[in-house]
Amino acid sequence: MIPRHGLLAAWADTRWAMRLSKTALARRRARLWAEMAPILAKTPALSGYAGRSLQNVPIVDAAAIRTAFAQWNSAGIDHHAAMAAAEEAERGGAGIVRDGIAVGLSTGTSDVRGMFLASAAERARYIGQSIARLLPVSAPVVGARIALVLRAESALYRDVANGRFAFLHLAIDLDSHAMSEALERFRPTILIAPPRELSMIAGVAPRLPTLARIFWGAEPMGVLERAWIADRLGCRPDPIYQATEGFIAAACRFGTLHLNDDSLEIELEPVPLVDAYRPIVTDLRRHVQPIVRVRLDDIVRLDQRACRCGFAGRVIAPVGGRVQDIWTTGTGLHLPEAIDRRFEEAVGPAARWEVQGGPSMVTIKALEPRDGERLRTAARSLNADAHIDVRIMRDLPCAPKRRRVTWRPDA
Ligand SMILES: [Zn+2]
Repeated sequence: MIPRHGLLAAWADTRWAMRLSKTALARRRARLWAEMAPILAKTPALSGYAGRSLQNVPIVDAAAIRTAFAQWNSAGIDHHAAMAAAEEAERGGAGIVRDGIAVGLSTGTSDVRGMFLASAAERARYIGQSIARLLPVSAPVVGARIALVLRAESALYRDVANGRFAFLHLAIDLDSHAMSEALERFRPTILIAPPRELSMIAGVAPRLPTLARIFWGAEPMGVLERAWIADRLGCRPDPIYQATEGFIAAACRFGTLHLNDDSLEIELEPVPLVDAYRPIVTDLRRHVQPIVRVRLDDIVRLDQRACRCGFAGRVIAPVGGRVQDIWTTGTGLHLPEAIDRRFEEAVGPAARWEVQGGPSMVTIKALEPRDGERLRTAARSLNADAHIDVRIMRDLPCAPKRRRVTWRPDA
């Protein structure tokens, strides 16, 4: 069970941090890093860095942490114990390893699924911070009706449900009509779902007059798709950037995506030859499973525009893909989001398709022959020399995530 006072304290602390200047946020991060020293001392992979500056800790890739699970937690939990609890959680159990430490499996885009550990206090902090960052300041008093389309129902939300907060969990394999009927009955004020499911719901256009905010996460959303969903549902979808490695960024009430500079130290490593970065993440609030200088695959682009919401967290564009999916063609380097935009413009925001690029081969999958031909023309404009293979599919399975634009260096 989540301690309620911890949740409210995290909410108040986050609301406070959302009024701080950039300098004050940096001071706060330095203090939080100093407080992590005893945690680092108990974590085998990090014990040599306790009390030292963050810059001394070597940068690691997310996959390295996944394969050295026992080295990367401060509670002495081994891989087998965590996996057994994670599988129990997937079947609807509590997924507690011991002492209130819960384990969950992430739907990572890589082949190795990440396992995350969180104590009851950390879960309370996460929920409190999410409520502060995503919902209006009145939320703890007036509450919210939150519909979530997630891979698995999470005990995290069941713990918070009470008179003010109601949750509806919808499984991602529901068809669009069942999903929209359940939403109409529930009357959500907040809807959180991956882009593919939001697009499905938008296709049916249920009547949801109570809806105040829509958030998407987990995978990139097309620019035209965002506008189309906003038009169909009467509410603009805004991004949440959440990874196994932390709650990295969230959109404010103006739809601007701010890095969570109040609770994470996010270093930005330039990606060669393009105007983009990879995040190197240190979560200053995770103590059971410390995340220190972990490099992610996501492409982050800074947006220099100031936001009038008052939060000084840096502003980024919605994450448009992974560094592995940058196309290298005769016309130069192309970010996945630029390619996504090109194909979206060719077939419209509601079409379903996937394109895998490669130096000599482009594979297009579409549901409609007409879309396939339009995508072929767009692909030729990007990579004139490649052989273009168009496949018309009955369906496009997208487990665990939808990835419309990918790149295979050996294709
Ligand atoms: Zn803002």
